[in-house]
Amino acid sequence: MGTECAPHVRAAILERLAQVQVRMETACHRAGRAPDTVTLMAVTKTVPPEQVNVAVEAGVTLLGENRVQEFLSKRADYDPRAEVHMIGHLQTNKVRQIVGKVSLIHSVDSVHLLREISKVSAQQGIRQEILLEVNIGGEASKSGVAPEALPALMEAALQTPQITLRGLMTIPPPFTAQREAEACFARMQSLYQKMRETAPQMDILSMGMSGDYETAIAYGATLIRLGSALFGARSYPPKAAEA
Ligand SMILES: *Cc1c(COP(=O)(O)O)cnc(C)c1O
Repeated sequence: MGTECAPHVRAAILERLAQVQVRMETACHRAGRAPDTVTLMAVTKTVPPEQVNVAVEAGVTLLGENRVQEFLSKRADYDPRAEVHMIGHLQTNKVRQIVGKVSLIHSVDSVHLLREISKVSAQQGIRQEILLEVNIGGEASKSGVAPEALPALMEAALQTPQITLRGLMTIPPPFTAQREAEACFARMQSLYQKMRETAPQMDILSMGMSGDYETAIAYGATLIRLGSALFGARSYPPKAAEA
């Protein structure tokens, strides 16, 4: 499996993971939830496979990928025990490269994307599981469906062949105040509850990142997506022009 992880890097990841697990448990306890109702995802962007595998060996069962190209170049080196989800914005022309290679796509936000995923899934003879991404903060720059448009998109997802709708995902705006975070997560929780009246088979509410996962757990998140809290601050490689 390629390169070994340096011992001090391995130790740092294990230490952060242990801290996260304690904080998750405390947050679940405070919310009156069983700890096994929240799944921890390790978000792998910019993280070398040997570091990702330290988390997997320590018991993290789920990885989250943002970029199709980065995923395809790293996946052969991942510990095969880990399940992989696509969490990044997905362009229609990349659908073919991702369908069937991940067990869940978190970032579906249009009928157009639903149709493309359905088409490719049919060609592969599979069903693809998905979440609908909601733009809960109403930011113009963000991907995700507006809350007002969610019921129609959900209806479309339920009717599209080869698609299994598992729930909702959100990336809220970067917060300045705890109150704002709580308002966003509370709105997502109520959308999710309302959607489940129509589609009770939905069982995943994907929200909460390194800075806000305890709050997300308080508002019913069933899957939290952590990058820097596990692997440390990301260092992006310099752009080609600067290299
Ligand atoms: C990067 C990323 C995360 C993790 O972010 P951290 O703040 O490092 O935990 C979670 N979800 C998505 C969609 C991301 O792109």
